[in-house]
Formats: sequence, C-alpha cells, structure tokens
Amino acid sequence: MKLRSLAVAVAMSGAVSGLMLVSSVDNTAQAQETFEWKMVTSWPKNFPGVGQGPERLAKIVDEMSDGRLTIEVFGAGQLVPGFEVFDAVSEGTAELGHSASYYWKGKAPAAQFFAAVPFGMNAQEMNAWLHYGGGLELWNELYDDFGVDVLVAGASGVQMGGWYNKEINSVDDLDGLKMRMPGLGGEVMERMGVAIVNMPGGEIFTSLQSGAIDATEWIGPYNDLAFGLHQAADYYYYPGWHEPTVMFEAIINEEAMAALPADLQAILRTAVRDINADVLDEYTARNNDALETLVNEHGVELRRLPDDVLARAKEHSAEVVAELAEDSEMAGKIHDSYRAFQEKVVNYHTISEQAYYNARNPDESTDN
Ligand code: CA
Repeated sequence: MKLRSLAVAVAMSGAVSGLMLVSSVDNTAQAQETFEWKMVTSWPKNFPGVGQGPERLAKIVDEMSDGRLTIEVFGAGQLVPGFEVFDAVSEGTAELGHSASYYWKGKAPAAQFFAAVPFGMNAQEMNAWLHYGGGLELWNELYDDFGVDVLVAGASGVQMGGWYNKEINSVDDLDGLKMRMPGLGGEVMERMGVAIVNMPGGEIFTSLQSGAIDATEWIGPYNDLAFGLHQAADYYYYPGWHEPTVMFEAIINEEAMAALPADLQAILRTAVRDINADVLDEYTARNNDALETLVNEHGVELRRLPDDVLARAKEHSAEVVAELAEDSEMAGKIHDSYRAFQEKVVNYHTISEQAYYNARNPDESTDN
C-alpha cells in the first residue's frame, strides 16, 4: 500500500510539474506576442484636450503593457478623414478610433443619445448613466451591428453656445444664419431658421473667416482659443444648451479586441477609463484661463443667449428628442433609459449640485 501511494504521489507530482511547465511556456509565448495598432481620430493631431486624450491613451497602454501593445495615433485626414473614423474601425482599417457618436447619426440616429442631448445630462450625470445606469451596455448593443465595441473616452463639460458675427437679441436674429453645429442641437437650430452646415473641427476657422458660415460652435474657451475663432467672429455666447457636455468615444474593432490576450484587453479598458477622467480634468482646468485671455487680451464680446432663444430652443429640443425616440425600437429603448436616469439624477442634483451653485454664487442664481 505504502509503495503504491508513493507511486501515485510521484505520478501526481510529475503531472503537476508538467502542467506548470506547459503553463509557463504559454505565458512566455503570450508575453512575446506584440500588437501594433492604429488609432484614427476626428481631431487635428495633438489638438489640446480632445486630441491629447488619444496621445495619452497610447502612452499609458505602451507603458502598462511594456510595449506589447503599441498604438499609432492619426489626426483627422492623416489616415482617414475625420468623419470616416467609424467606418475605418468597423472595417478594420484601424483597430481603434476616438471621436463623438453624433457624427454617426446617418448610420445610427440613436448614437446621438451618447454624445450630447440638448438640455440633457451633464458630464457627471452622463458618466453615471453610462457606467452605472446601463447606458454603456446599450451603446455597445447599438454598435454591435457594425462590429464595433465602445468605451467612454472623455467629456468636454458644458460647452459654450458659440461664435456669432453679429449680436443675437432675439430668436428673429437667428433667421437665415448659416451655422456649424452638429447633432441634435443642429436640428433644433434648423427649427429656429438657421441653415446648418456639417464640417469637422479643422475646417471651422476658414469657413467662419471666409463668410461661408456666419456662426459656429466648437467646444469651449480652451479649444476655441486654440482654433483662433475670436479672429473670425466678435460675439461669444453662453450657455451651450445644445451640448451640456459631449462624451467622447473610444471605438474598437470587435475582432481586433477579441484577438488581444485578456491582460491587454484589461490594460486597454483601464487606460481608456483613465483618459475619460483626464480629458474632463484638462478642460475644467484650462477653460478658465482661456476665457480670461479671450475677453481681456482679445476683446471678445461675451454674451448670454437671450431668454427667448433659450426657451424656444428648449421647446424644439423636446420635439427633436421625442422624434428621435420614435426612429427605431432601439432608439426608443435608449431614450427610455436616458430619460428615466435623467429624471432621477436631476431630482437629487436640484437639491445638491444646483442648490450648492446657487448658494455659492447667489447673484447668478436667476440664471439657473
Ligand atoms: Ca461642440
């Protein structure tokens, strides 16, 4: 019996070390496999804020993976035009993309819910819905048809209302203007008599300067200053009712993602979560100084949008969003989830965030 037990023990220990050997060989093979990815974006290469996020992502992933996953970042137009980022990732021309989902409304109108909803949720609330309220699951479900995975990859915070080459004193002053404004906000503007022109960020300055458009929105002081928009229009309006934030997206070719070992997938997801926070932090920090520079050094005329413009925009926004919800079953499902979350979070934020802002700055509270 004793001998027999010993034999079994020896055999078992041999089996165990055999298994360990196989496992360590596998790990070595995995550790040696490297992946070289391309990332296309809708922004000028290295652009402040939104363009820095993808650069940071590439750097962190390279460091965390010890060079096993490298990402080459392309600005708009370097590998594909800014508005072809989604197709490029869907078709595998690039493994990764950084953009904003409202640019894909021609493919999937419901994608607009994940970028910016006029009079909708702000960055803090969108992050909560996407990460803890089921939003990101719905977003991935929407993109499934295109072979694309999506992660949340940055937020602008509340944007500015935009640049105008004349003063806007009432809704009537909007009539006949040509303006660049993407997404649902653009549709709302159309209902107030504005002709909407779509173009990537990189084309805005020239169009505004040449008079091809009379007005534009872009992001906020930090990015608007970088584009020099103050050199092409005098009046800078707030608030950005049309984009209470934009959420940026990291889109990933599904097959490319599935081909990564689990640890590299985890590194990629973690790095995207990092830039999601970092992009908003950078905007929050830099917008203040940029606004001072625009007003004090460049003499920009800062104006609040008239009450009737905001009231009319809010009415039309409700119509536009309701119509989008009717577009498809999936759009209805996303809309219901978005609205239910917004109602709950606004209930609480009325007595927390908003009440605090009003208490901190009572002179401005009538604007709330
Ligand atoms: Ca914008």
